[in-house]
Amino acid sequence: MKTIHVNLSADSYNIYIGKDILAKVGEIVAKDKEPCKMLLITDENIEKIYGDVVAESFRQNNFDVKLLSLPPGEEQKNIENALLLYDNCFAHKLDRKSLIVALGGGVVGDLSGFIAATFMRGIPYIQIPTSLLAQVDSSIGGKVAVNHPKGKNMIGCFYQPKAVFIDTNTLSSLPSKEMVAGIAEVIKYGVIRDAELFAFMEKSMDAILQLQDEALLKIIATSCQIKANVVEQDEKEKDLRAILNYGHTIGHAIETVTHYKQYRHGEAVAIGMLYATKIAIELGIADTSVFDRQLSIMKNLGLSIQTGLKSEDIIKALYTDKKTVSGRLRFVLPTKIGEVIISDKVNDEMLYRVLDKPLLAF
Ligand code: ADP
Ligand code: ZN
Repeated sequence: MKTIHVNLSADSYNIYIGKDILAKVGEIVAKDKEPCKMLLITDENIEKIYGDVVAESFRQNNFDVKLLSLPPGEEQKNIENALLLYDNCFAHKLDRKSLIVALGGGVVGDLSGFIAATFMRGIPYIQIPTSLLAQVDSSIGGKVAVNHPKGKNMIGCFYQPKAVFIDTNTLSSLPSKEMVAGIAEVIKYGVIRDAELFAFMEKSMDAILQLQDEALLKIIATSCQIKANVVEQDEKEKDLRAILNYGHTIGHAIETVTHYKQYRHGEAVAIGMLYATKIAIELGIADTSVFDRQLSIMKNLGLSIQTGLKSEDIIKALYTDKKTVSGRLRFVLPTKIGEVIISDKVNDEMLYRVLDKPLLAF
């Protein structure tokens, strides 16, 4: 088992990564926390496969566990379900010393974290992410939220978990399209911060897709370490943390234009990364190999990279993103594999020029 420490002074915590961790979670948590009342939140897909083992692990260590599972899907991350969960917190008599445990993908993690952050002004919570996307991204860094009809993650705050437990075995049941979408975020870490991780992905994609232990441990631990380092330096996204948005500016716009129905988050981010790289090439700050290397990994993964969307619609959506600062777009642009800059110099004319050409026609 590998441990990564996230150093945020009073809010510091560990990320534990390895095989067969689910059955040991209760025991590890019990070392630091007196047994208490606990709400275990999951979704129906995950409950069937992992609900019992996690609930048992805590019960054996004398935690008073109530398990609650929601239907799967992004549309469940709403304020009505938050109210339902608060009702369950009261019904199970949780207090400020109790524990919320999120077992699942990003939907379960974000919603459960939001409940933990707000119930009685905040109670401890633990993340057990089961999708690759949640393991390398959403479970770390303390962004918690629910969606609003006006936009995804519009109602939320920063609230750090007490620990994150990543059991790489859970990826064996993850649908392969979800796995591939998660890998897009790992490519992101390579481009923004780690040329070696990127080269590893070029070389070892088969091992990753075959879920070989060492390859999984490498990509997950490296991604978590990069995210931890960035969050340690800039917990509330004042500056540096924005580099984690590489591919997300256009990625979010693509998700918005297609009403979150056509692309998984990671699939939209993959396309967003390619467009951001095209912009960097147009600006003369990156060479074409930066594009070609990303494209080659994405093709290898079978990711679809054409959108057929109108540039105009994408650009309109860009301006409604909550990350737009005083009406100016901020882009994370690669200068080479492993290094990015943040730029507010990308104008609409440049955007039209890049978005009007099909990605593969450059
Ligand atoms: P994400 O983690 O991508 O943000 P979700 O929480 O919606 O998004 O998870 C994506 C889908 O994958 C959901 O249908 C969820 O039930 C399913 N899922 C997550 N983890 C696993 C797993 N380890 N095994 C099987 N299905 C999983
Ligand atoms: Zn993302």
